[in-house]
Amino acid sequence: MAVPDVSRLNWLTTRLDAALGWARKYSLFQYPFVTACCGMEYMATATSHYDMDRFGAGFPRFSPRQADVLFVVGTISHKIAPVLQRVYDQMAEPKWVVAFGVCTCTGGFYDNYATVMGIDTIIPVDIYIPGCPPRPENVLDGLMKLQDKIARGEYAAKDGGGAERPAEFQIPHTPDSHL
Ligand code: SF4
Repeated sequence: MAVPDVSRLNWLTTRLDAALGWARKYSLFQYPFVTACCGMEYMATATSHYDMDRFGAGFPRFSPRQADVLFVVGTISHKIAPVLQRVYDQMAEPKWVVAFGVCTCTGGFYDNYATVMGIDTIIPVDIYIPGCPPRPENVLDGLMKLQDKIARGEYAAKDGGGAERPAEFQIPHTPDSHL
């Protein structure tokens, strides 16, 4: 009996992964988890002037079960952190997380007992967008970087961690120093 040529099967699954990645990167349903002033720039980015629809990301969902991308926008306190974790857990895989603004990246200037020192201490983060608040151009740059990641089939939850926090966001205190 002839041995099946599995190399042809590999070619097929590789092409299928590429097609899925392409489709996913242009059909992003985002869940905005908005807590503070960064929400203003988030809304500005969503306006027709910046046109997030051209990235296939213009349609927010307010149920985590229907969302692919969690946009965490604004300061996260320890009191709200369990809610954020619950929302994240309710999203189906594959799923991605964007830290929007320096408060979500590191805690920002809220170096105090009440603030989470970066959401990557509680959930995996795929993309960090700096700024206080970020300009819409920064947000679109982060969105395009996220699309590249999605096209490659990468997401932080799968990779067992998250993107490494960028060097400029490294902070001297430990993540749990305010717990
Ligand atoms: S990064 Fe700045 S604008 Fe955004 S939530 Fe924090 S303090 Fe507000």
